[in-house]
Amino acid sequence: MNKVAFIGLGNMGGPMAANLVSAGFDVCVFDLMEDAVNQLVNQGARSAATAATAVEGADIVISMLPAGKHVRGLYIENTELLASLTEKALVVDCSTIDVESARAVAENLASQGKRFIDAPVSGGVAGAKAGTLTFIVGGDADDLARAQPALSAMGKNVFHAGAHGAGQIAKICNNILLSVLMAGTSEALQMAIDNGLDPKVMSDIMLQSSGRNWTLEVYNPCPGVLPDVPSSNEYKGGFMVDLMNKDLMLAMQCAAQSQSSVPMGNQAQALYKQHSENGSGQLDFSSIFNLFASK
Ligand code: NAD
Repeated sequence: MNKVAFIGLGNMGGPMAANLVSAGFDVCVFDLMEDAVNQLVNQGARSAATAATAVEGADIVISMLPAGKHVRGLYIENTELLASLTEKALVVDCSTIDVESARAVAENLASQGKRFIDAPVSGGVAGAKAGTLTFIVGGDADDLARAQPALSAMGKNVFHAGAHGAGQIAKICNNILLSVLMAGTSEALQMAIDNGLDPKVMSDIMLQSSGRNWTLEVYNPCPGVLPDVPSSNEYKGGFMVDLMNKDLMLAMQCAAQSQSSVPMGNQAQALYKQHSENGSGQLDFSSIFNLFASK
């Protein structure tokens, strides 16, 4: 599994591909943006003129693309690429996409005797750069085992969530909870401030009480409570509001499909949508705090 084709060299894919190069993999890259390709070539990757030529001879094909339509475009519609893909190749899609697209791609590849896993990630751009991503995998255990060395070069945790599509389901279930926790923590902190309490003291109290949660521990949304988090840096960097909105949209699609009751997710989605419409789409998602602060 030494020859890797990597398609999609954006904020996430670029550093992920660079980590594979650093780990000694023979990486051939493709992106629609020439600059992104050149950056990887400068870091030691080979480049190809098309996605189809990038996958020639690859043991493993990794993609990190914006949405389901791009992933379908590659592995269902791009007949040239499908013809270049040998049967030994394993396709690993790390994009966050709708569950149906992940399953449709798995089926289409399987019908041609080719292997696929969905492997969306948690950890953001910082995790991609540091090689500490968490991969949440849907597909066969044998295929996951084959992908493991490459995934280990880009991340530190790999979970097998279940069959094809399960990686995407697990990722959006996590992000529903994250959006609810971030909005709830913001609401509680702002109410404390409105009543004259110090948000740092309030955070310390909740950290030792039953309101304790991940956002309080490592990602406090109130500026000045924790150092080195987006809220203490004008909400720059981190995980963008518009990406949270994308994940919540995928989560609501999935919930409608499974007829799951998601009133908390619905409410969080409405808040994040409003926040984006207020002009905060490019800020870190902890900036939802401002929605409660502005009166
Ligand atoms: P991005 O927009 O920075 O990068 C996407 C890249 O794909 C671009 O360079 C684009 O040119 C390229 N591309 C699009 N269509 C292509 C095609 N047909 N062939 C080749 N290249 C193509 O996006 P990103 O932030 O890197 O996110 C990628 C995926 O990772 C998304 O699904 C996103 O939801 C998910 N994700 C992002 C983060 C984050 O914090 N940025 C965190 C977790 C998951």
